Amino acid sequence: MQNIAFIGIGSNKGNRTQSCLDAIRACASWNRGVLIRVSSLYESEPWGYAAQEYFINCVIKIKTGEDAPGLLAFMQETERKLGKQKEFLWGPRTIDLDLLFFNQDIVDEPQLKVPHPFLHQRRFVLEPLCELEPSLIHPVFKQPVRQLLQNVQDNKRVYKIAESPPCCEQLLL
Ligand code: ADP
Ligand code: MG
Repeated sequence: MQNIAFIGIGSNKGNRTQSCLDAIRACASWNRGVLIRVSSLYESEPWGYAAQEYFINCVIKIKTGEDAPGLLAFMQETERKLGKQKEFLWGPRTIDLDLLFFNQDIVDEPQLKVPHPFLHQRRFVLEPLCELEPSLIHPVFKQPVRQLLQNVQDNKRVYKIAESPPCCEQLLL
């Protein structure tokens, strides 16, 4: 279990909080990984396509023996199990799992780009990420995520709605 990964979780369709908690639970019970930390839950103004419901977002940190494509496959299977539906790019979705960082690896393939190519432009990712690990270095920009948050141009609203969810304490044991 030598790899450290950060995953961004979001939902803006159906029971948004429940979907995020279900995704966290799925990651906690994965036999190829261990859940290490869970950020607070945030509510955020939609990014990209504005005429849609606000999102619930959070970020988790996991440890895994799986490689990055293997982790992505697990994330996509989890999205499917939780009934991911998306009508169009950046439109409403029941659940979305994005691989933000995988160690300090840089991957640039059609099906997998790491670090996630938009994370430095998105306040709804940077806020929870900084809550977990402000000194985490972005391997492309060679800057800590704290600095990326300070410089981000994104003025969409992002606010904390709950501390690390109650069920997560049990999941982290
Ligand atoms: P969105 O960009 O709106 O999150 P999807 O979640 O449907 O859209 O993802 C679309 C594609 O993005 C997937 O087919 C996946 O292979 C690809 N992808 C590339 N890099 C990543 C990453 N770091 N995390 C998650 N998906 C990624
Ligand atoms: Mg996605």
